[in-house]
Formats: sequence, C-alpha cells, structure tokens
Amino acid sequence: MEHPENNEAYKGLTVNQGVEQPSIVNPYLKLRKKPKRRQYTAAEYVEGIVKGDVTMLSQAVTLVESVKPEHQALAQEVIEKCLPYSGNSIRIGISGVPGAGKSTSIDVFGLHVLEETGGKLAVLAIDPSSERSKGSILGDKTRMEKLSVHPKSFIRPSPSAGSLGGVARKTRETIILCEAAGFDKIFVETVGVGQSETAVHSMVDFFLLIQLAGTGDELQGIKRGIMEMADGIVINKADGNNIEKAKLAATHFRNALHLFPAPESGWTPQVLTYSGFYNIGIKEIWDMIYAYIDFVRKNGYFERRRNEQAKYWMYETINEHLRDSFYQNPQIASLLPLQEREVLEGKSTSFSAARKLLELYFAGLK
Ligand code: GDP
Repeated sequence: MEHPENNEAYKGLTVNQGVEQPSIVNPYLKLRKKPKRRQYTAAEYVEGIVKGDVTMLSQAVTLVESVKPEHQALAQEVIEKCLPYSGNSIRIGISGVPGAGKSTSIDVFGLHVLEETGGKLAVLAIDPSSERSKGSILGDKTRMEKLSVHPKSFIRPSPSAGSLGGVARKTRETIILCEAAGFDKIFVETVGVGQSETAVHSMVDFFLLIQLAGTGDELQGIKRGIMEMADGIVINKADGNNIEKAKLAATHFRNALHLFPAPESGWTPQVLTYSGFYNIGIKEIWDMIYAYIDFVRKNGYFERRRNEQAKYWMYETINEHLRDSFYQNPQIASLLPLQEREVLEGKSTSFSAARKLLELYFAGLK
C-alpha cells in the first residue's frame, strides 16, 4: 500500500517500504523454562531427611510453615513418619531481652558444644513480634557469624505467620524434623518479653535465661513466672569493669531463687556469670547443662517432662485447629464484625453475641 506521506500533499522525503530484518534473537535458542520444582512425596521427604539431607530438611520445614492446606497435610504426613527417628537430642531454650547477647552467645555456645561433643546443632527461634514486623530477627543467620558457616549447623529463623501458638507449634514440629535429620542438639531462641518463654519452655529440656547486670534493680523487671521456669540463669557481659556488677547481680538472683518453691525436677537452678563476647565462662555453663541432663535422666524427670510436653502439644494443637476452623468459617467471618459492633454499642452482651456465633458455627457442622 502506498505510504500516506507519498501523497502529493507532502513535499518531504519519500518513505520506502522497509526491508524485513532477521530477528535479533537466535531462532535456534530454545527458551528454557525455569524447571518447576517437583513436589516430593512424603516418603521422599522422609528418606532425604533421615539421610541428613539439609536441602530436603529446609524444604520440609517450609512445608510445615506454609498456611496452604495441601502443604499442611503433606507436612503432617512427613512429621508423622519422622517421629520414630526423633527425640534423640537435647533441646535447650535460650531466652533474654534484646541486647542481652543471645546471638553472640549462641554463636559461642554452638561452637563450644560442637567442638566438645561433635554431632550436629540446629538453632530455631520463636519470635512473637515477627508477625508485625514481617520477618524475624531471631535466628537470623547474619547474627551468628561463625555458626552460620559451620558445616554441622542448621539455622532457621522464627516462622512468621500466625498467632504465638501457631508459630510455636511450627517450631515444635521443626524440632522433630531436625532430630530425624540427625541433629542431636537443638537450641530454641526467644526474646524475653513474656508469653513466648512459656511456649519455648514447653518444648525444651533445659531453659536458660540470659540476664544482664544492670542498675541493681534487674530483678524488678523480670517476671516471677519466667524466673521460675529457668533451669539456669546466666549473667552475660561479665568482662572489663562489669565483672563485679555481674557477680553482684548473680548473688541477687541466687537469693531471689531461694524464695521460690523447689522445682519439680529436683534440680536447684544455678546462676553463673560469663562473657559471650570474650569467651569467658562458657565451659562452666555447658558443664552445668550437662550436669542437669544427667541429673534428670537419672531421676526420671527428663522423660516425664517430655511426656508432659507431648500432652501439652496435643491440646495446643487441638485448640489451635478449633480456633482456626471457627474464625475461618465464612459465615462466622462475615457476621463477626456486626456482632462486635453490637457489643461495643451495648446492644448485645458479650456472652449472648458469643453464644449466637458459636451456635451458628456448630449448627453449620451438623
Ligand atoms: P541479642 O539482641 O540478645 O541477640 O544480643 P547481641 O548478641 O546482638 O548483643 C548485643 C550487643 O551486646 C552487641 O553489641 C554485642 O557485641 C554486645 N555483647 C554481646 N555479648 C557481650 C559480652 O559478653 N560482653 C560485652 N561487653 N558485650 C557483649
């Protein structure tokens, strides 16, 4: 067709028909599609995990953390099959306020136990704040410089989605997978701000509380319940001109512990000072932990505590599923805001609103 600019009305250049050019893309180049990762079967996951394949382990943990129902179903199958291979580890909870020196300490603790006892170490975390901050700082690899490159360690940050109960359950399930993969030492890290300690305490054999010597009133800031949970309290940063202060704090803690009833384990919690940064007093902490494990293995408390924990997690899992099933029910989800408003405006009492919703939910189940 004649180009419009060749019209007589145009006085400019004549535009010729173009010449077809070959494509600049090599026609023989086969575009390789990114291979979609095949979904492994539960048996394949288990086989990989039991062989100690860390990539398989990581992928299985990702399944555990997934909120998709099909992933959850597969994850549960993998966990179930890994159970017979699990349990052969010592599980240690490590808690402390931000800045107490958890990551510095976990790095040196980890290297110490790996050097002293061989084996493999997994570092997991429970961070209740991670839901809000979208991503967890706990268990972050960059915070544990040496461990993160150690061939015998596996570091996994806190699962980030869901309620504390949900996050804690996922960590508990991850422990099982790690144990099946041959990790015989498990650290579970958490921040010392309250409820998350209870969750960690309910999945470990030894609960270690990291404290700092402060202004002399360090005991006031710490909740009684948290101190009661501790099997050992360690005062960090006992170095330089902080040594005396740390010793004094240790004395305060020791005195305070005397006021509590004797723990069920029969073990008297110890208080030690150390410096994670300068690597002072680390061996003493681990001697204490091993002494505790020996002690409770002999008196039967080790088994008893684990059995109690298994029972606790059965109920926690039931509670979590019931709660999810209720709140995710579409009818409930759509009615909830209305009921909430009625309660806020005083048009309905909290009890009658709750009853109405629950009745509706249970009627839907029939
Ligand atoms: P986290 O928030 O509990 O994980 O604490 P970090 O391990 O990140 O430590 C917080 C700060 O305390 C960092 O600046 C560390 O260098 C410092 N720190 C940790 N351990 C020690 C210690 O033993 N002595 C001294 N002086 N500083 C330490």
